Amino acid sequence: LQLTLAVIKPDAVAHPLILEALHQKILENKFIIVKSKDIIWRRADSERFYAEHKGRFFYQRLVEFMSSGPMRAYVLAREEAISQWRELMGPTKVFRARYVAPGTIRAQFGLTDTRNTTHGSDSEESAQKEISFFFPEFCVA
Ligand code: ATP
Ligand code: MG
Repeated sequence: LQLTLAVIKPDAVAHPLILEALHQKILENKFIIVKSKDIIWRRADSERFYAEHKGRFFYQRLVEFMSSGPMRAYVLAREEAISQWRELMGPTKVFRARYVAPGTIRAQFGLTDTRNTTHGSDSEESAQKEISFFFPEFCVA
């Protein structure tokens, strides 16, 4: 089984029905929830997590948004967990998601390209890094 980090972002956690729908989607798609927690980032956490995007035009609004309220983080296990979760999320940009992948999470619930409901690790390397970022007590090595 492969592990991935999935995050329900502040826009989706703020809406109880969307949070519940996303939780159900995780279970329906045969992911095992290894760990989960609700967390609020300080601005500095947000800046550190998204350091790779520093300088991009959306960096400030991304950092601001991700430290604007509670999030729910999950360590999920499944065969092909990384690609399967990213497939369920759909493309980063909400309007693109609606056009090319209408059934996906971002197509259904995304508000804007920044407030796009969910995060998912994009490789085994980033999954490992991101899991220890959110769950420092969880050893994946
Ligand atoms: P994530 O890393 O959140 O799973 P992703 O891998 O699909 O999403 P990245 O390119 O890593 O997308 O961007 C990280 C986040 O930055 C996006 O999820 C989104 O919130 C924000 N973002 C990315 N591109 C844009 C953009 N063009 N305009 C506004 N916000 C953006
Ligand atoms: Mg990414």
